[in-house]
Amino acid sequence: MRFTLRSATLGRPDASALADVDLEVAPGEILTVVGPSGCGKSTLLRTLAGLLPPLAGEISQDDHPLVGPAADRALVFQEDALLPWRTLRANVELPLAIQGLPRRQRGEQADAWLDRVGLADRARQLPHRVSGGQRQRAQLARALAARPRAVLMDEPFGALDAQTRAGMQDLLVEVLRGTGATVVFVTHDVDEALFLGDRVALLGSGRLTAVRDVPRPRDRAAHDDPARGALRRDVLTSLST
Ligand code: ADP
Ligand code: MG
Repeated sequence: MRFTLRSATLGRPDASALADVDLEVAPGEILTVVGPSGCGKSTLLRTLAGLLPPLAGEISQDDHPLVGPAADRALVFQEDALLPWRTLRANVELPLAIQGLPRRQRGEQADAWLDRVGLADRARQLPHRVSGGQRQRAQLARALAARPRAVLMDEPFGALDAQTRAGMQDLLVEVLRGTGATVVFVTHDVDEALFLGDRVALLGSGRLTAVRDVPRPRDRAAHDDPARGALRRDVLTSLST
């Protein structure tokens, strides 16, 4: 899925958060979005989700105006959005049920996704009986089970400890591989932004200030790569202003 924003003003009618945004997100790319708190990251994501209409300008999805939420755009937030009275398996089955998949098939697909995220032995647990990291893995399974063409993620790993978080980043890259899904991933963690992103978008003072390519290969230990170091400094600067 391709997203295109042209001269878009985003926010609530009484308070615009981002003005004059021009941005294209290419099919299959991972765009990470960074910026200081309150700069409009969640606003951008909610707009792409179709939950917040633009105040001005144009937003399109695959060359059609983007209007309202759609099943082929999945959302993953930091808050745990699992239904507490449903088992992890029943939570993952939910979008498949909405798609009208027969019971048996959705059970099989839910199990396959739970297995991919390492929760095969937790499928019959209720969310409150598993750890925060496991709940985030279940949310990821639920988001991807419906085979969305875009995944919109708002600081999904923000509440996890550093080690669990690194594991989730690896898992995300692995489960996205081969899906072709376009990902927009909001974070305020510079290393997360550079590890996950094909490109990183910097927001600040009510604007999209830059969109930068992230050097490849994806490598957490590449601290001495000069291009990466320069980009890291730029991202840190944008986060602190
Ligand atoms: P970020 O995710 O980067 O922290 P947000 O997109 O949540 O920033 O917020 C951008 C701006 O919109 C902020 O100034 C914030 O105060 C305002 N805002 C966010 N949510 C609401 C809301 N529900 N009602 C009114 N203003 C809001
Ligand atoms: Mg936010």
